[in-house]
Amino acid sequence: MAVPGSCEHSFTMIKSDTTLILWNCNMCHSGPHWYIFECKHCKLKTCRPCTAKA
Ligand SMILES: [Zn+2]
Ligand SMILES: [Zn+2]
Repeated sequence: MAVPGSCEHSFTMIKSDTTLILWNCNMCHSGPHWYIFECKHCKLKTCRPCTAKA
């Protein structure tokens, strides 16, 4: 598992099919979101705008 910051992130979108599972962005702490982008390498979870910044 790579350290965020030294990782070449590769994000996959995860959608929640229930309102019981929501995520906050690990970068800007926005949320909760019913979908999130997770890096398949370091598991960083970010909102859509942060996938461009990360
Ligand atoms: Zn990553
Ligand atoms: Zn964010």
